[in-house]
Amino acid sequence: MRIGHGYDVHRLVTGRKLILGGVEIPHHLGLLGHSDADVATHALMDALLGAAALGDIGQLFPDTDPAYLGASSLDLLGRVMDRLAQAGWRVENVDLTILAQRPKLKDYIPQMRQNYARAMGLPVTAISVKATTEEGLGFTGTEQGIAAHGVALLEALAL
Ligand code: MG
Repeated sequence: MRIGHGYDVHRLVTGRKLILGGVEIPHHLGLLGHSDADVATHALMDALLGAAALGDIGQLFPDTDPAYLGASSLDLLGRVMDRLAQAGWRVENVDLTILAQRPKLKDYIPQMRQNYARAMGLPVTAISVKATTEEGLGFTGTEQGIAAHGVALLEALAL
């Protein structure tokens, strides 16, 4: 068994969509980034890659590469899963925490889990997504950005 952690932050700006866990969430601000800026999925991918010691998404999908401009992070997650399978790993479970002052994310979490289950080929029971505020403190509390942490547990496939 191997464990990995991922962390990511994106800035909240006007004129961008807010996409978290592959769900487009109605809000007056969205996340800035080269891809769709899905900060939760970025933290998840880095947790998976970290557990397998396969680098990080910055190496796999550089933000200087026009191929990833506006890319769907769920699609990139599918590619990370392919890399893990090639390297002989399967995913046991993942757990994400999204740090956002607003909007309230509770109602969107079931769809995020479904999206991850489909993209990763896992049962929805293997995927946890949680959300919290930071009580108005720091950059998430003042709505300058949204952060996410992810943890993943991998198991080596039998040879
Ligand atoms: Mg990112």
